[in-house]
Order: sequence, then structure tokens, then C-alpha cells
Amino acid sequence: MCPPAEEFKPPMKTLNTLEPALKRALTDRIRYYNELGIYDFYRRPSPFREEGPEPLMDTTEADKLESLAGNDPAQALRSIREDIGDCTRCKLHLQGRKQIVLGIGDPNADLMFIGEAPGADEDTQGEPFVGRSGQLLTNMIKAMGLEREDVYIANIIKCRPPGNRAPERDECETCSPFLMRQIEAIKPKVIVALGAVAAKTLLAISASMMELRGRWFDFRGTKLAVTYHPAFLLRDPRQKKETWKDLQMVMKELDLPIPLKGVE
Ligand code: URA
Repeated sequence: MCPPAEEFKPPMKTLNTLEPALKRALTDRIRYYNELGIYDFYRRPSPFREEGPEPLMDTTEADKLESLAGNDPAQALRSIREDIGDCTRCKLHLQGRKQIVLGIGDPNADLMFIGEAPGADEDTQGEPFVGRSGQLLTNMIKAMGLEREDVYIANIIKCRPPGNRAPERDECETCSPFLMRQIEAIKPKVIVALGAVAAKTLLAISASMMELRGRWFDFRGTKLAVTYHPAFLLRDPRQKKETWKDLQMVMKELDLPIPLKGVE
């Protein structure tokens, strides 16, 4: 899990000079981002300000783009990709990443899988879950009676960490606004977090897989289930039976018929 950071508190001087309604709106907005695990904020360039750091995300611009995209999730996803650009927001761009791996699948999908970070194969091909664990994820999706093209697949972070190490807190914080926008654009009925890193980062809690599996979480109004990461299943295939139970729970929620055969 990306380790939690200290809660962001806007300087009192700034808040106290605001009018009450704006102050309330700003406080709510900051709490909302804190709940997503985002604690670092940058101010947009203003006419009164000299040079400053590159904004992490211009939220006004982002909201505008998403609302312009309206009910067109494919367009919203294209806007997100454009905003990411040739990203240099975190150190991963200096650590051997070949390309940004945004996500793949149906922009209108009811079901969204979220993994951890691209590995070597994903970095080469620009698509999440295309290596050995990707093959297993594809089999899991097929076992549910679906095709890869029917769902949407993304990761917490969009660049490959060197040596496939776990993503670090600053990387998750920098990248997660883009994942939040992907979820907002797709509006899936169900999210499946693959493995503890994805689950703990999304839910901002520290818990064991035993505590995380077999139940529903509310993720900003969307149902979220947790199952084992396919890479873990490659190391311990006996857990495929347990994974199948998690996927059946998801299928029931989505009103999908439950085939007899499980994950192979
Ligand atoms: N593991 C992940 O978490 N994501 C990928 O895209 C590939 C492997």
C-alpha cells in the first residue's frame, strides 16, 4: 500500500480571509481529495504569481473537460490521456519507463478491474495486463462469461516502477487523480481491486486480504470488491478457488449467469 501521508490542512490565514460559503466549499473539496489519498496541492498560476511548480491537475479545467465530454466516456478517456501527456510529474519518467499505460477496454463497461502498476510487458506494449498475469486475468474474465473487450482494465499508476517494485506513496498520489477521472468517466457498476496494493490504495485502509475479500466496499458510490492479484495466483494456484468465489459475488451483483466452470 502506498503509505498514508499527513492530512493536508490549508493555512488558516488563507481560509479565514474567504467568504463562508467559499470557505465551506474549499474545505469540502480538500476533504474529498484527502479521502482519495491526495494530500499535495498546487495552486494554479495566477496573474499575481511569478513562476511556480507545474500544477498536478488543473481541476477546473479537468471538470470542464469531463462535463464537455458529457455522456461520452470514450471522449473523456481521450481527454485524460491528453492531459497526462508525456508525463514528468513523478520520478518514474526518469527510471526507465518506456510509455504510459492508461487502460484498455470498453469505456461503457459495467465492470472495471484495477491492478497495481504496469510490468515489463505492459510497458513495452502500452496495455495493462498483457504478460503472464494478464493472460490469467483474461482467463478470469472469460470464466465470468465475458471477454476482455467487455470490461475496462487499469492500474493505480500508469508507469512501470523499476524492477517491478511496488508503487511508492508519492507516485500513487501523483497518478491517482487520473485513475479517479477514469472511474468518473466510465462509471462502472462494480470495481474489482486486484490484490492488496490496489485495494489498500483505493480504500486508504490497512487490512489483510482475509479482511478485504468476500465483502462489498463503497468506493464513492460504486461497489468495490477485492480479489487476489493474478500474479499471486500464478505463485499459488490453489487460491484460484477462492478467487472464483469473489468473481461469483461480482457476477451476482451484475446479474451475470454463473457458469459451472471456475478460473483455470
Ligand atoms: N500487474 C499489474 O498490477 N498491472 C499490470 O498491468 C500488469 C501486471
